[in-house]
Amino acid sequence: MTQTGANDSVAEPLMMYAGAFHPAIGGETFTSTNPADGSVVARIPFGGAEDAKRAVDAAVEAFPAWSALTAAARARHLHRVADVLESRRDEIARLITREEGKPLHEAQGELQLSIDSLRWYGEEARRAYGSWIPDPLPGRRLLSVRQPVGVCGAIIPWNVPCAMIFRKAAPALAAGCTMVLKPAEATSAVALKVAEAFVEAELPAGVINFVTGKASAIGNVFLTDERIRKISFTGSTEIGRLLLKGAAEQIKRVSMELGGNAPVILFEDCDIEASIRAVAALKYLNAGQACIGANRIYVHDSIYDEVAEGLEKLATAMKVGDGTADGVRMGPLVDFKAVEKVEELVADAVKCGAQIRVGGCRMQGPDYENGSFYAPTVLTDVPASARLNREEIFGPVAALYRFTAEDEVLALANGVEYGLSAYIFTENMDRAIRVSERLETGMVGVNEIRIGAAEAPFGGVKASGLGREGGREGLDEYLETKLIAMRVKD
Ligand code: NAP
Repeated sequence: MTQTGANDSVAEPLMMYAGAFHPAIGGETFTSTNPADGSVVARIPFGGAEDAKRAVDAAVEAFPAWSALTAAARARHLHRVADVLESRRDEIARLITREEGKPLHEAQGELQLSIDSLRWYGEEARRAYGSWIPDPLPGRRLLSVRQPVGVCGAIIPWNVPCAMIFRKAAPALAAGCTMVLKPAEATSAVALKVAEAFVEAELPAGVINFVTGKASAIGNVFLTDERIRKISFTGSTEIGRLLLKGAAEQIKRVSMELGGNAPVILFEDCDIEASIRAVAALKYLNAGQACIGANRIYVHDSIYDEVAEGLEKLATAMKVGDGTADGVRMGPLVDFKAVEKVEELVADAVKCGAQIRVGGCRMQGPDYENGSFYAPTVLTDVPASARLNREEIFGPVAALYRFTAEDEVLALANGVEYGLSAYIFTENMDRAIRVSERLETGMVGVNEIRIGAAEAPFGGVKASGLGREGGREGLDEYLETKLIAMRVKD
């Protein structure tokens, strides 16, 4: 049974398009729940194709005026949205924790990245320079200008429900595009709270629009409506493939931020204590539900036992619970389906010969009764045949593998279909550079697990995606280059 949390009322937010709030046209709703205790967080409109079409109409109508504003004027709007987020910092962070489950300090970090993205892209779009090209012909001038792509459709996942909105909307709006955004079902209340912030900041109507509800119907409108010129998707590789196929029909531009299977390599010359702390922080971030999370941890044979013992100690000491409670370092998984998937992967690894050093089960006790909690887990001697070697775990399971040589571990690290992020720990600078260059991933952390910033390009290669979010590259995703060739009487 679902029930309301003791101190928080059930919100009833509405979709937001054309600058106003709307229930679903069909009147249907669904509920989102708090994964820490199963209580209802919000009743959300369950929209579909008709709602999405109205939102697209609004974005199309808003585009000419928004794209005609100066970049400086658009920047002022984005700064105002950032100001509203700052003034509602606690309220939004708390809602992220209630609906998604991550501890409050992680939710606050997510909100900060949202604010940084708005402010940085507002300013960066003022530098979207074109160029005057030296011409090989006399009597002609060649000039290239940057123009917004047009109306964009965005689809985001539940694991980063606030920052993901701004990783897309900040560069898109700064570039002069307008947008319709569909959040994940599980975290729709966070998205609709953010929608309120855009209205409070008095962003012109239709510049950004939020539609909640049936994913396939809304996604289909994005794919089939010719007025949508670009689709920006973050989520699983499976749904990414589906959208890519659909986008091919109208040759729409796409950005794809997809799944990961990050290798983490601890060489024998690493700072062992610091590396263990970093690996634990990365592995248990958002209860392991991060696309850049540590999926395969390769440890040099000579330090393997020490690393396994250190991780076991940190996992055992970790405070798990409702993310709003003091001192909690890890919250629940997003739902029980996610717990079952982790259970399946751990059972398969054990069947293949892996040892459970700690965890390997749901959290027990009265604090965990109605929540989807899985214990911080360390598995050792994981064989390559285990499914979690090839699949994204998306749970708090540290899977340790042994290696002895650099070439061997590079082949293992690169031997999967994904290529989002990788991490290496070594005090040898030559090795750090050599290995970073040979890893087939879009991002590499060297003795560092914090690889995201508004200023830096984020994204993957291979089945992990196309394009980049963040940095100058993130703005390029929302700009077209136009050549203007002019006859000039010299
Ligand atoms: P998902 O199942 O692919 O869902 C992502 C989004 O797609 C949700 O909004 C979902 O809506 C929507 N969706 C589902 N079916 C659709 C369809 N047929 N047409 C259009 N949209 C559809 O992924 P998830 O489980 O939410 O998120 C976890 C995945 O995201 C992991 O693989 C993770 O690695 C990846 N991720 C990648 C990055 C990155 O930057 N590379 C960042 C974060 C997460 P509903 O929720 O309503 O079903």
